[in-house]
Amino acid sequence: MISDMKDIKFTIFKQLKLKEMIKKDAEWNAEWGPTANMVLAETRNFAVNELVPSNIIGDRTGVRFHGDSFVEVPECYHKMWKVMSEEGYIAMTEDPDFGGMNMPHLLAMGCSELMTGGNFAFMMYPGLTRAMGNLLLEYGDHVQKDYVHDLFNGNIAGTMLLTEPDAGSDLGAVKTEAAHQNDSEYVLNGEKIFISNGEHNLTDNILHPVLARIEDAPPGTKGLSLFLVPKVLMNGVKNGIKCTGIEHKMGIHGNGTCTMTLNNATGYIIGKPGEGMRIMFSLMNEARIMVASQGLATGAVGYEYALKYAKERIQGRHYSNFADQSADSVPIIQHPDVKRNLIHMKSLTEGMRGLLYYAANLIDRAKVTDCEMYRGKLEGMLDLLTPLLKGYITERGYECADLAMQVYGGVGYTQEFPIEQLVRDGRITRIYEGTTGIQALTLIARNLFLKKGAVLFDLLIEIEKTLAEYKTADKLPRFHTEFKFALDKLSHLITLVGQKLQSGHLETVLTYATKIMMCIGDVMVAWQLLWKCGIDPAKYNVQARYFILHELQNTVGVIGTITENINEADIIPESVFK
Ligand SMILES: Cc1cc2nc3c(=O)[nH]c(=O)nc-3n(C[C@H](O)[C@H](O)[C@H](O)COP(=O)(O)OP(=O)(O)OC[C@H]3O[C@@H](n4cnc5c(N)ncnc54)[C@H](O)[C@@H]3O)c2cc1C
Repeated sequence: MISDMKDIKFTIFKQLKLKEMIKKDAEWNAEWGPTANMVLAETRNFAVNELVPSNIIGDRTGVRFHGDSFVEVPECYHKMWKVMSEEGYIAMTEDPDFGGMNMPHLLAMGCSELMTGGNFAFMMYPGLTRAMGNLLLEYGDHVQKDYVHDLFNGNIAGTMLLTEPDAGSDLGAVKTEAAHQNDSEYVLNGEKIFISNGEHNLTDNILHPVLARIEDAPPGTKGLSLFLVPKVLMNGVKNGIKCTGIEHKMGIHGNGTCTMTLNNATGYIIGKPGEGMRIMFSLMNEARIMVASQGLATGAVGYEYALKYAKERIQGRHYSNFADQSADSVPIIQHPDVKRNLIHMKSLTEGMRGLLYYAANLIDRAKVTDCEMYRGKLEGMLDLLTPLLKGYITERGYECADLAMQVYGGVGYTQEFPIEQLVRDGRITRIYEGTTGIQALTLIARNLFLKKGAVLFDLLIEIEKTLAEYKTADKLPRFHTEFKFALDKLSHLITLVGQKLQSGHLETVLTYATKIMMCIGDVMVAWQLLWKCGIDPAKYNVQARYFILHELQNTVGVIGTITENINEADIIPESVFK
């Protein structure tokens, strides 16, 4: 089972109007105008025929560590890697001069969701490989850029080496050392843990971007630099980086999570000393959006499975015949509580899909505009939204997968049915690439107030603009006023948060950061559902009405509670835990 193709197409073609947008770029128009539908259909076939069947095999087989830095992926992964490489799926949006497909991000997001929903443990291999290529394209010197082609066509794979035993959320604590040799060359020593794709046998060479500290560099993130550490050096000699073990983890068994030891490894600095975190952020932002897509796919696939099961599973009498012992049992989809669970999943996944694809489309819109100032606004909005996409969508996507298990009942908890694996696999999305709490801190304490709030203001204008057309045509349902009410309450709360931060009163704001992020996400989902409903009420009215009249009312309550309590000094004193 994979995500709902109908809503994917609606979001791409009707809501975000791919074909209108690509007319502004002659190459895009010529290439993708006639083929966009076909590409989605082909990607769906690949996902259904290759990725989905290999998902369960990958889970049961897992990666195997044979010692001496040899990590073996499940056998069926090799065929998928070959298809990804040959069909250009690794670098869908990238420059054809480097082996990319030059696909609009909006269309690529659709393909990516389909494939991620099919098997996201596998999709992490191409995902980080592409991100590594993009990092080198943007910041690498001419020698480093020579690797990009091989990354994009799958000859070499990529990773990201940030985490250490004492440096997880706080990367400022990174201890790996880099000693200067000559020119751009350094020698690195240290240990990195939890490294996805750190070692595997899909490719002969793997490129590692490693965060490390040059001797005498200042403490904290300011003292970090970034190094390119290839598994095999350009002269064919094996480098001093090894996988010394893999984690035995809850899910994504097909993806190796490796401990990597750097023992006099040769590394080439990317950018300048001290620029490590800034440069790494370009890779991390791409990875955060990739994880948001995993979160969406987790929820969306959960919904599809639950829907199918709810139509097939016969259990209990219809509530209208409850007292009639001789009445036939009905499919569980006829029970109102099951229907409520299903509409909860459906409205959330369709709203989150709108939001994530909207963000992807910001990149495309920035590319096709001639106006520098407008481009800056679009890029700013993507910057603002990135931690929200990662934090909110992974939380709510997981909530949907959990509800899917509820719809399955007891069998959902067993290995004979797919939800058990989905829930195990999906759980990591809320942790890696920065936990939900860390995304919330970034959003609340930094991104909401980028350019003194001007970026947020731009987003609010976009919300108005996207709905104005339907409002004027009287196509928005009556309950759009409830959305406006929630948006106003949220805007007021954000103003209060800004004041608190400015006056240095952090404690309560930080206590509520995750909750505020979730409220913002709910309002954004409501916006997306209203937008879809404005275009096609017959298709989206029930979801929009459910979410806005039920879920968003809870959100308004939470916003109210936080607003009332924001002036409290310390609502959870540490002494309570003594
Ligand atoms: C399967 C898997 C794959 C991974 N892949 C990679 C990879 O490819 N490359 C890589 O570099 N890393 C990777 N990681 C590491 C991952 O990014 C970290 O686990 C994650 O960022 C959290 O760091 P930590 O585990 O050290 O938790 P900690 O930082 O110890 O956090 C523990 C808890 O404290 C909270 N917390 C910490 N600091 C704060 C704060 N200042 N304010 C509020 N709350 C805070 C966190 O939200 C969390 O709930 C992976 C991890 C796993 C499990």
